[in-house]
Amino acid sequence: EAKGAGRNQSCFYLPKMQQRILERVEMDSDLRRAMMNHEFLLHFQPQWNAERKMVGVEALVRWLHPVKGMIPPGQFIPFAEESRLILPLGDWVLMAACQTKARWLKEGYLDDVVMAVNVSAMQFAQEDFIDKVGKALAHTLVPPHLIQLELTESMLVHDQEDVIQKMRSLKELGVLISLDDFGTGYSSLSYLQQLPIDQLKIDKSFVARVMDSKRGASIAASIIGLGHNLGMEVIAEGVEEDAQFQWLKQQGCDLFQGYGLSRPLEEKILIGSFVKQV
Ligand code: C2E
Ligand code: MG
Ligand code: MG
Ligand code: MG
Repeated sequence: EAKGAGRNQSCFYLPKMQQRILERVEMDSDLRRAMMNHEFLLHFQPQWNAERKMVGVEALVRWLHPVKGMIPPGQFIPFAEESRLILPLGDWVLMAACQTKARWLKEGYLDDVVMAVNVSAMQFAQEDFIDKVGKALAHTLVPPHLIQLELTESMLVHDQEDVIQKMRSLKELGVLISLDDFGTGYSSLSYLQQLPIDQLKIDKSFVARVMDSKRGASIAASIIGLGHNLGMEVIAEGVEEDAQFQWLKQQGCDLFQGYGLSRPLEEKILIGSFVKQV
């Protein structure tokens, strides 16, 4: 009886596990093919200051799959990290974002709009990451102060000396550094103050709660205060409602990004909506 149940169990679980492995293998070869076929593209989500002037855009990768259509990064970045394909993909994102910014400069629009680029932990850990950033700048001739790298707290925990060294090298190159999803990781305050970070990005989970409760409000207000006390700019992500925007603005938050202000947009639509005003 016990043996039978055991057998049943393995019959139930094994195919599921195999299915998951198969899925991963398929995803892996699908991602490789996608790299070769240039199926990735960038969308751009505007970032606004308190006067509702667009001062930045965040480049967000999408996968235009020939069969499945547009796939958001949450559905493939974790696989790309597991297979290390995030490295060539991340190289492509960095170069494509710089090339896009260079083209905008050449064509004379969105001149002082900063291009923010997401960097995954594995990318940042590469020994030649700084070289790659330097090469992307040199190749495209984008002024470094118009490129902002979004790092996350999770990549700071590993080798602290290496992290500090790399961030200093990035600052020597002249790019801006933002700490994405701030508040969801584990960085200590003493460590944070040693890092040359230009911007703190309040995670959207906190922004979602600013109007809900006193606690929700005080967490966001504390992050704004912390950032400012450390000499950093503070941006709120995931701003969906005007009440959130108004409240954050009143607390002194510097920049705002979210569906309530604008969704991530295709380049054509972004340019079409913002260039006419010039
Ligand atoms: P993230 O860097 O924190 O980017 C913000 C995400 O929040 C984006 O999702 C954006 O579309 C979404 N978002 C913006 N406004 C709102 C809002 O008002 N409400 C809500 N609920 N969401 C909002 P997306 O594009 O699906 O990207 C998800 C994550 O995937 C990013 O989070 C980032 O961690 C990662 N990612 C995206 N592009 C890249 C990339 O090129 N390289 C790497 N390494 N990671 C990327
Ligand atoms: Mg980001
Ligand atoms: Mg974020
Ligand atoms: Mg986030």
